Amino acid sequence: MNLSPEQQISQLRTQLAEYNYQYYVLDAPTVPDAEYDRLFRELQRLEQQYPALISSDSPTQRVGAAPLAKFSQVQHSIPMLSLDNAFDATDFASFVKRMRDRLDLAGEFRFCCEPKLDGLAVSIRYENGVLVQAATRGDGYTGEDITSNIRTIRAVPLKLKGEQIPAVLEVRGEVFMPLAGFEQLNNLARQQGEKVFANPRNAAAGSLRQLDPAITATRPLMFYAYGVGVIEDNANQFNNLCHYTRLQQLKTWGLPVCPEIRLVEGEAAALAYYHDILDRRSQLAYEIDGVVIKVSDLTQQQALGFVARAPRWAIAFKFPAQEMITTLLEVDFQV
Ligand code: NAD
Repeated sequence: MNLSPEQQISQLRTQLAEYNYQYYVLDAPTVPDAEYDRLFRELQRLEQQYPALISSDSPTQRVGAAPLAKFSQVQHSIPMLSLDNAFDATDFASFVKRMRDRLDLAGEFRFCCEPKLDGLAVSIRYENGVLVQAATRGDGYTGEDITSNIRTIRAVPLKLKGEQIPAVLEVRGEVFMPLAGFEQLNNLARQQGEKVFANPRNAAAGSLRQLDPAITATRPLMFYAYGVGVIEDNANQFNNLCHYTRLQQLKTWGLPVCPEIRLVEGEAAALAYYHDILDRRSQLAYEIDGVVIKVSDLTQQQALGFVARAPRWAIAFKFPAQEMITTLLEVDFQV
């Protein structure tokens, strides 16, 4: 029997909501990301075709999943959004064209090109240069308080160094597990007859969302900053920088920033960056699932604004899927 569009939409939403719960709340996905992405795109396509059926509770309108009740909650006064995806050069060209049309721009954009680290997004708050709070992204508006766990990651400075640090600075970035550490952790688990982690993302999420920070402290986690949230900056200098220069400034304050990040001029250069990173993917010390291309100019970013769950000025340009369903199903997941 053929399903009506309404029934198809409803079925996809139920399925995606369950996958979201497994992935974000339990850290235990049961399908590969490529399959999730396929269903998500199918839902987006149907909703575009039948806009009257769009509802605010659809996974296409929301970020992640609600925080786990066992952690105390942190409100993000600037939401932590997701990213729209591009899966090929045509998608990427449409993204650039949409922005150009919206801004009525004849020239080229300057893009900040960044590897898309496969971990989980966190927000780390510094007051007068001192780390006071850290939270997961959660559903974008409310995250989990993971301050004690973040403090165990050696790459994360407890105190910033240098000049003109804003009075309040929320640093946003990715916590991830480098591949060497991931292998070591799983080897140890195997030797001890314990369950292994399915992939580095799963291992990073499971390690960071531990109620006992002593366990997190034993896990080889790393952090790279890729943006900022709330800034209270009396001198107002940081505010005036472009996205790329802000990241360089974060580095001078002692925050780790991915060394592969580049500022490029124009669409063709961004595409070349994508291909370069794709070619070198297997040589990187960490897992990535694409690159993120962001308009670097803050005035342009502000003019472009946001849609439901993602900024209009950035895109996750994903690499072709590597994993197969069988790989995931064969693995015994650790929650
Ligand atoms: P996303 O992972 O596609 O993109 C947004 C995230 O990218 C950010 O929150 C941040 O954590 C990360 N990121 C990494 N590097 C970044 C950088 N340089 N700049 C900015 N952000 C960067 O979006 P999402 O909403 O976290 O997750 C959606 C994806 O997760 C899906 O496309 C799917 O692949 C996967 N997923 C899988 C399942 C499953 O069951 N397998 C379920 C839900 C989601």
